[in-house]
Amino acid sequence: MTLAAFKRRVAFWAERLKPLGLAHWEIDIEVVDEPSPSTLYGAKAAVTCSSNYDLVWMEVAEGWLHDSDLEEIDKVIMHELIHVAMRDLDDSIHRVTQYLGEPAVSVWKEELRHETEGFVDRIARTLYLTSRSNVVQS
Ligand SMILES: [Zn+2]
Repeated sequence: MTLAAFKRRVAFWAERLKPLGLAHWEIDIEVVDEPSPSTLYGAKAAVTCSSNYDLVWMEVAEGWLHDSDLEEIDKVIMHELIHVAMRDLDDSIHRVTQYLGEPAVSVWKEELRHETEGFVDRIARTLYLTSRSNVVQS
């Protein structure tokens, strides 16, 4: 898929998921070798949200974008958009780390990352499956 086509898919899903508060977000998308905000090896895409504005930078792995089918791409887009929708919740949860010492911070962050990724992925798959019949193929 080309970057232009990917941007159209992101816009489509942001509109579709607007009840999550996504419709007004500005989404800046860049193709990279490896998405940098992620600590996960082989990440397909990653988002970094502005703390003060509804602005997000999305990085997408070039090789994955080139080799993946539309269903895989749509699922990853939905996953990343749900992370965006959780920005304020994530910020609030992470503020507690200033009151924790090591090793509690490391344990807390790793546990939270693991649980967040699993939950976001389950929501993304559920939303994809429940809206698949209405998805416009492009
Ligand atoms: Zn994720």
